[in-house]
Amino acid sequence: MKLVFATGNKGKLREASEILGPEFELLSAAEAGVVEDVEETGLTLKENSIIKAEFIYSKTGMDCFADDTGLEVDALGGAPGVRTARYAGEGCVFEDNIRKLLAELAKLDPSTPRTARFRSIVTLIIGGEKHFFEGVMEGRIALKKSGHEGFGYDPVFIPDLSADDISEYFNGVSPAPNTTVAEMTEEIKNAISHRGKALRAMAAWLNNSR
Ligand code: IMP
Repeated sequence: MKLVFATGNKGKLREASEILGPEFELLSAAEAGVVEDVEETGLTLKENSIIKAEFIYSKTGMDCFADDTGLEVDALGGAPGVRTARYAGEGCVFEDNIRKLLAELAKLDPSTPRTARFRSIVTLIIGGEKHFFEGVMEGRIALKKSGHEGFGYDPVFIPDLSADDISEYFNGVSPAPNTTVAEMTEEIKNAISHRGKALRAMAAWLNNSR
């Protein structure tokens, strides 16, 4: 099945191809002929996810999906949330966002919990109709960056791992304390991540409805 993924982020495209498997032929927005970006003017992750999916659908008429992801840090009142991509300002890069996040947390009392979560909302447009899927990865923000895998905030996000996660993905041996997502393989990240959960829910729905 052919689907356009409304993204220009190569990391996301690779993750989604892995997660959805060979039954789905994924095209990036550019591969579907859409080179311009749409402004993410929504006030929520869901609104932005709809804006991105509707933009691709209006340009191509093809079945497509978009995700919008936010990092919610409890001690920062849920920030950066819908502003996750541009936390350090318009045109900023991952490094700027991570620096700002660590700086904001460094202003707080050191005993403040650093609990946080990634939340992804996926909007699928199929046959012109919209369907929504959500995935969450709970964890906490590290004191400093570690690891080079993944992208975005992965080097400062320490995921919570359940006993099942440890037995299934780490041969029953817990990783070192404070292991970040950027120190895990892509396969493990996809198994536990917000986007992995949302995209697997989408794939299950598509497989059941065909
Ligand atoms: P968007 O959903 O592409 O708008 O992403 C929002 C922000 O979240 C961007 O700054 C991304 O780098 C970041 N982000 C999205 N997914 C992930 C992830 O899986 N790990 C780390 N950062 C992410």
